[in-house]
Amino acid sequence: TKREDVRNVAIIAHVDHGKTTLVDGLLKQSGVFRENQEVQERVMDSNDIERERGITILSKNTAVFYKGTKINIIDTPGHADFGGEVERVLKMVNGVILLVDAFEGAMPQTKFVLKKALELDLKVIVCINKIDRPEARPNEVVDEVLELLMDLDASDEQLDCPFLYASAKRGHAMLDLNDTSSDMTPLFDAILKYIPAPEGDPDAGTQLLISTIDYNEYVGRIGVGKVDNGKIAVNQEVMLMNHHDPDKKKKVKISKLYEFDGLNKIEVREATVGSIVAISGIPDIHIGDTLCDLENPEPIPFQKISEPTISMNFMVNDSPLAGQEGKFVTSRHIRDRLFRELNTDVSLRVEETDSADCFKVSGRGELHLSVLIENMRREGYEFAVSKAEVIYHTDERGKLLEPIELAYVDVPEEFSGTVIQRLSERKGELQGMSLGSDGSSRLEFSIPARGLIGFRGNFLTMTKGTGIINTIFDEYAPYKGDIQYRKQGSLIAFESGESVTYGLFAAQQRGTLFIGPGERVYGGMVIGQNGKAEDIELNVCKTKHLTNTRSSSADEALTLTPPKILSLEEALEFIDKDELLEVTPKSLRIRKRQLD
Ligand code: GDP
Repeated sequence: TKREDVRNVAIIAHVDHGKTTLVDGLLKQSGVFRENQEVQERVMDSNDIERERGITILSKNTAVFYKGTKINIIDTPGHADFGGEVERVLKMVNGVILLVDAFEGAMPQTKFVLKKALELDLKVIVCINKIDRPEARPNEVVDEVLELLMDLDASDEQLDCPFLYASAKRGHAMLDLNDTSSDMTPLFDAILKYIPAPEGDPDAGTQLLISTIDYNEYVGRIGVGKVDNGKIAVNQEVMLMNHHDPDKKKKVKISKLYEFDGLNKIEVREATVGSIVAISGIPDIHIGDTLCDLENPEPIPFQKISEPTISMNFMVNDSPLAGQEGKFVTSRHIRDRLFRELNTDVSLRVEETDSADCFKVSGRGELHLSVLIENMRREGYEFAVSKAEVIYHTDERGKLLEPIELAYVDVPEEFSGTVIQRLSERKGELQGMSLGSDGSSRLEFSIPARGLIGFRGNFLTMTKGTGIINTIFDEYAPYKGDIQYRKQGSLIAFESGESVTYGLFAAQQRGTLFIGPGERVYGGMVIGQNGKAEDIELNVCKTKHLTNTRSSSADEALTLTPPKILSLEEALEFIDKDELLEVTPKSLRIRKRQLD
């Protein structure tokens, strides 16, 4: 049976292409904003880091109403798939809205999620946004999107998708560029018309796969998922099971059930096939669990949550300067915070170590862990981190296996040579290369995860902040051999000011460091065996939020001091007089001798 009164749809969009504005527009028109209620900004994107890094970490849900139909709108995670999240989220919906900026065109970051959506046979509505922009080039962008869909092996039916145009900012969507629509109606209509209603058997036994977990201090863990079959109701007893864990089988009673309404969750007594619901009161609920009928319990299969590939130690900051950057500094603070993170992040591992002051944290790639570090620092946690290390496996015959990532790189053409060279040195293999219409190169690499450690900072420097790199775990494969890092000539050349994007530049290339007024040096030091600073790594930052505290010249790093933000004067204390080229009130120039 089809639930004609429900549509479940996900939005796929590159950061800044207008997803939040579009959802705001839909919410406004749908009237969920009661009179005088202030329109909340940034309804879906609550996490600043997502914005800065151009990724979406947690999925959030919104529901709007149109012509008696409830439309659940699910935010898709960005390109970085921290553990099968993309697929789990997409399995709740029957179609996607691909939102693309009419000037920028489709960005490679959206490719990964779009590909998954196509593979799952989801219907696509393309919405070309920001057509009010003077530089908008909607017709070309339509062609680019079609090309992208073909590249990703969209089916004929998927290629035949509707294209809409929108100015989310002005609150209108159109069927063609001459359309004079003054509101979002065409988009609402397209959703009703092209996105199939969810299907299932309302009379069958209950089956509800938990796709995401929310956590709330007051109610604890909240499982979110779609009712695949049957119904679910308050006071109903169900079996909590897991396809990948035959031992998990536990009778639980549903105490609180919610549906999404606008930006809120509202309590309901019952929900049936096709509804997306949230359930609290089951402390033991996990992603991938199914709530099943008691009589005939059958868990729903789902993609196994992938194992972590990289680990790092989080340590109490025991430097003499400790306690200046954060208010949560003790091992207890750090421990509690890390274990709390496990409530919502299935692909993270936290382990105690021999030292009470040190925790081993494992996740899906360096980005995954650096997002956590950055979040914690923003919340006021102060701690030190070790260099990231990949997690090796062995096959049956004892052969060493290492995690391999796919890296998608988007850079202005002039930098592609350098990027190819640097990634090749790190054992990257170029898999594909194409030229974008805007003069950018798109490169695809297969590369050992260890080759990517510390690379991001490098990459930003070498592309003058213009490059975009996205990585995704691919597979465990036989060890590709040692990476011979070129000996780093130490410090750096980058200009202060504009090129300092997110305040995160590792100092790793030979040359000169300039620090401009108002900027601070962020010093992580690599101490050599002789106990002396052999290779000082400095980051210049404009913001206080920093992530990258490990050495970029990864294999040369021995020990890192805890991160500290230093003023220009303080930084001078770390620097050998011989290395100073010039100090002015405005800048500091340093050169450091070659290693060895
Ligand atoms: P998100 O990151 O995808 O959620 O993007 P936002 O909704 O936050 O939009 C990013 C920026 O684009 C904001 O400054 C918006 O005001 C702007 N924006 C969104 N939609 C439009 C549009 O239709 N036209 C123009 N000119 N700007 C828009």
